[in-house]
Amino acid sequence: MKNLHPYVPGEQPKERPYIKLNANENPYLPSPLVTKAVARLAKKQAQKMALYPDPDSLELKKAIADMLNKTGGVLARANLKGGKKNGSASKVFASDSDKIPFIVTPQMIYAGNGSDEVLSFIFYAFFDGDRELVLPEHTYSFYPVYAGFYEIAMDKVPLKDDWTLDKEKMILDANKRNSSIIFANPNAPTSLGMTREEIKEMIKSAPKNRVFVVDEAYVDFGGESCIPLLADFKNLLIVRTFSKSLCAAGMRLGYAVANPALIEQLTTVKNSVNHFPIDFIAQQAGIAACNDAGYYVECARSVAFERDEFIDFLRNNGWQVLDSQTNFVFCKKDGRSGEETYKKIKDEGILVRHFNTPGIEDYLRITIGTKVQMDKLKTVMKNL
Ligand SMILES: *Cc1c(COP(=O)(O)O)cnc(C)c1O
Repeated sequence: MKNLHPYVPGEQPKERPYIKLNANENPYLPSPLVTKAVARLAKKQAQKMALYPDPDSLELKKAIADMLNKTGGVLARANLKGGKKNGSASKVFASDSDKIPFIVTPQMIYAGNGSDEVLSFIFYAFFDGDRELVLPEHTYSFYPVYAGFYEIAMDKVPLKDDWTLDKEKMILDANKRNSSIIFANPNAPTSLGMTREEIKEMIKSAPKNRVFVVDEAYVDFGGESCIPLLADFKNLLIVRTFSKSLCAAGMRLGYAVANPALIEQLTTVKNSVNHFPIDFIAQQAGIAACNDAGYYVECARSVAFERDEFIDFLRNNGWQVLDSQTNFVFCKKDGRSGEETYKKIKDEGILVRHFNTPGIEDYLRITIGTKVQMDKLKTVMKNL
């Protein structure tokens, strides 16, 4: 216990109605189909709340697989066709570059209580205490927390000067000790993504008998998904979440996509810890969300549009900003302290994220909100 270092999430303050641009949540509401499904449950299926839910969330896994097959796993690039039904576009197609060359089946999906829980089970199932797990120095800060909890040694590989992953060093180190690799793509907090081809080359040279984990929490906003690579790599495990692109951080739904053998092992861990990780209401809400992919395509496109506008604004005002494929930007301005700027913006009623981590303490990570929220932020930043 004394050695645990719990994760510190972005603040969720109660004392004042801040504009929240600090936790990479989606500013848009869930689809109307989701709110309808939940209302219908309360009215007509209250008895279900008295009963245990499906432990394996099979209907939800089917809905997730169906959504991935339709969208290709990148909402911001998916195509919409047909008129609007229930306020949502009726048909969704993957763009040519995102088409998955096989059918994703429910047996390839593991569904869990937020991707943080999915990650926890992955760390437990697949990483060894005595084999250094290879990860970038700056990436999702929950990975080191789990490594500490499960007593897994880490090899944190520094990013290159341009903030990209040092792929060569990561592969070299993984082969030295026959270790697993984990990173987010696009990465956080840098917002930079790698192409599927680049990751394919990495997996090809990484240890074949170790699980290779790619966390695609942000890929729907314009990155490239690695799902098509599952045809070639039995050791690839992809983690995804409903929290960012599916406007559902409060619902706690995450999932993994991999070949069935890895999914079965994750299920064994789940059934040894918490047989029922996803409650009945979240399962039904999740199914409704997957059935309205068209709605979320429009949300992802709006976020991507506002992001590109905001990046232009920042660059025109002397900020350094990395090219973002996510729903946030990572930026700094020479001569400005990250912490001071964070505080000044907070005084104006807007929360952004600042990390006290050495190497990135001058940077701010700013979540993309609605146009109204971004206009307010631009005004505040202009007047700093
Ligand atoms: C937000 C985030 C998660 C956690 O998502 P939940 O499904 O809400 O637990 C996981 N990985 C990365 C990289 C994230 O940014």
